[in-house]
Amino acid sequence: MLFISTVNGHERMSTRDLLLRIKSAVEAGETDFRIEASGQHDIGGPLWNAQGRTLHFEVSNPGQRVGSMALPGTEIVVRGPAPADVGWLNSGGRITVLGDCGDTTGHCAAAGVIHVAGRAGTRTGSLMKHDPRREPPELWVLGTVSSFAFEFMGGGRAVVCGVDAGGGGGEHPAPSVPLGERPCVGMVGGVVYVRGAVPELPPGVRGLPLDDADLAWLAPGLASFLAAVERPELMKALSRWRDWRKIVPDMHGGDGDGAPGGRDGAMRRFRAHSWPEGGLFGDVLPDSGRVTDLVASGDGRLRAPVWDAEAGPCRECLACVRACPQAALRRRGATGGGAPCVFSVEPARCIGCGICVAVCPQGLWRLVPVPEGAPL
Ligand code: SF4
Ligand code: SF4
Repeated sequence: MLFISTVNGHERMSTRDLLLRIKSAVEAGETDFRIEASGQHDIGGPLWNAQGRTLHFEVSNPGQRVGSMALPGTEIVVRGPAPADVGWLNSGGRITVLGDCGDTTGHCAAAGVIHVAGRAGTRTGSLMKHDPRREPPELWVLGTVSSFAFEFMGGGRAVVCGVDAGGGGGEHPAPSVPLGERPCVGMVGGVVYVRGAVPELPPGVRGLPLDDADLAWLAPGLASFLAAVERPELMKALSRWRDWRKIVPDMHGGDGDGAPGGRDGAMRRFRAHSWPEGGLFGDVLPDSGRVTDLVASGDGRLRAPVWDAEAGPCRECLACVRACPQAALRRRGATGGGAPCVFSVEPARCIGCGICVAVCPQGLWRLVPVPEGAPL
């Protein structure tokens, strides 16, 4: 286990230095971290262990974006509260905050699980989405969430237990008002389970009672959530399912406009026919998946030099040969006599830097694009 304290006397470790230290420890095989932070950002993601082992983080006093872009195989426990953007763009991490969370908790989360033992701020859960290639993201909040929560939610599951940290504590807390003003505006996917009164909802979104499928997911998930936030004694009180409702986009008519070609019909058509192939984060353009070095040679080059005998007479100054940092150019003969080219380029050495192009006083070299997979 690596313990990092970020304050030494009057010296505070910068976010950059902390993240670099964590990164090199992960690369050296460390999997357990205890971090006494002092407001450093982005602790816990995106990181992975090369052997697939789980990375554990126990953090106190983090700054913004703890667990942002966290990947599967990352588990983070924050001892106490955490400020804005907890689990921002979470991509598979398990994040537990044993206190309140700031604004935009779970913002844009696409996978993974976020557990909040207290309340969460404004725009919590906004833009959550479900990448079809992964399990839907989960966001569990024991307390309440503030205004504009779940704005433009596109997928995933959120649970707001409405336990009022201000007064309704104990083993039998009464449900408080779980959501702040204007929740679920623009919601087009996913589900929000709330315990307590559901406020007025925007057009195209409605509150419904739970059905058996909801309970089959919610009941075991609630037990695991309460264990994670160290409040198992609340299971009985929070399992009074008549206190719960679910909020879903009205994709199937009902109190939305529902008319063929109307908003609901258009959304149904989009989900049925236009959802990006390969997932929400699928590539917009075809991608071979090929990974090349930062400075590539051979067919990994973006560009390659060609020598153009037609562009003018070669002075045979050899500036191009001497300037090439890769010793990739060879002179093969003299110009004249109809020879098509007097230089050859060794593709395995050439990195397409264009220096030969720049130094040639006659402008006889050009750089041309190398299509992916082009022969050497
Ligand atoms: S592009 Fe750069 S590496 Fe390639 S031959 Fe020219 S100078 Fe050498
Ligand atoms: S730098 Fe240009 S002119 Fe000089 S040898 Fe190379 S191709 Fe010929």
